[in-house]
Amino acid sequence: MQYRCTICGYVYDDAKESVPFAELPDTWQCPWCGAPKSSFEPIEEAPVKDIVSEVAPVAEPITAPTELDPDMQKLSAGQMAAFCSNLARGCEKQYMPKEQELFNELAKYFAKHAPKVEDATVESVSVQLQQDLDDYKSVMQTAQDHGDRGALRVCTWGEKVTRILSMLVNKYQKEGDAMLQDTDIWVCTVCGFVFIGKTAPELCPVCKVPAWKFNKIDGRR
Ligand SMILES: [Zn+2]
Ligand SMILES: [Zn+2]
Repeated sequence: MQYRCTICGYVYDDAKESVPFAELPDTWQCPWCGAPKSSFEPIEEAPVKDIVSEVAPVAEPITAPTELDPDMQKLSAGQMAAFCSNLARGCEKQYMPKEQELFNELAKYFAKHAPKVEDATVESVSVQLQQDLDDYKSVMQTAQDHGDRGALRVCTWGEKVTRILSMLVNKYQKEGDAMLQDTDIWVCTVCGFVFIGKTAPELCPVCKVPAWKFNKIDGRR
């Protein structure tokens, strides 16, 4: 029997392990992403198809909107800052240093104008993450309906990373600072995956980049 981590996709194969999955203790965690044992699902006979590869190829080229989409106009300064810094990162990956610099400049501009969040408590973060997870469902459906594979891939990563963050925040609410004692926090600079542990994972379980793409966070102020 094989079991797959619903968070990162790690597969536990009874045939290859000395202990069958069913006999692992409840405290056992996914070796890739640290998700609890309860996040694993048995793999059915037919392999689960990758949602990204299921999308039909795009028939017509997608034309860029000439006017600003009304949805975009609703974005807050904070959201625009995140949006622009992500685009800067995208430009960096595409070796477009000039565009990268311009998007970074825009990100800084928006960040400066974003109001401080008054109720930035662990609880409000937890609520926001849950809201994001709910929103991903319709966003992914829209991407699928439009056959937009790029958007679907972004959503697939984003949804996984958000699910992991939500799990970590819930854990923090239960355990408090004890959870972060004698350990480090690592963030994948490509997809945002967060890992709690002494060393960064060999490969990012979400986007598969190597350990050197992880940044150690020591934000204990
Ligand atoms: Zn996992
Ligand atoms: Zn990653």
